[in-house]
Amino acid sequence: MRRPGRPQRRGGPDPAGAQRLVAALAEPGCPVCRCLEAETRRNLAAFLREQTMDPEGRAALRRAGGFCGWHTGLLREAAAGILSVALVAEDLLQGEPPRRVACPACAVLRDRVGIYLEALLEGPASPALRAALAAGPGVPCRPHLRGARALAPADPRVAALEDAIAPRLARLGRALAGFIAKQDYRSPAPPNAEEARAWSEALEHLAGRPGLLGSEVPRS
Ligand SMILES: [Zn+2]
Ligand SMILES: [Zn+2]
Repeated sequence: MRRPGRPQRRGGPDPAGAQRLVAALAEPGCPVCRCLEAETRRNLAAFLREQTMDPEGRAALRRAGGFCGWHTGLLREAAAGILSVALVAEDLLQGEPPRRVACPACAVLRDRVGIYLEALLEGPASPALRAALAAGPGVPCRPHLRGARALAPADPRVAALEDAIAPRLARLGRALAGFIAKQDYRSPAPPNAEEARAWSEALEHLAGRPGLLGSEVPRS
């Protein structure tokens, strides 16, 4: 299994990845987190639709030890496939408790992270992605910016990426300051929509989308 965040240079930049980032930047939050979450929700729905009735699919999941905490939590939201979810849970309950979990849904995302980070690094060279990075409303999260830096430590594209998002981060800072200032009862106007969501966007920028990047609580 490849390590997370390895460079995806074999085929060069992925134009589809860049297009998905541009679309994701039209919504608040980290575009990499948003794309990964959308992909993993689609993958889980396909698994529930196609593999839970297949003994091989369930056996493979049992050998992996089930899903990680995040993906198990996402199963709760699969309201349309709740019978499939119950079958998966029954199957896993009947097996021995695994010594470790090698979540197959996370394994699929490992390659995808590298593709999106590579597309992010190519961003400043692409007019559409550069404009979306500067204007938002989305903005890459710090964990994924660290990931891009780790992928290409001495690469000038990292500095270009940081320059590209600087105007967006300055705007987020102004919106957050506006929200705080307007909490004063003497303020003549309530926060506007951008200011009202600034604290939530700031939290996602700091630590990524809730659930996706995990906690550091020790398990023992
Ligand atoms: Zn992110
Ligand atoms: Zn997982």
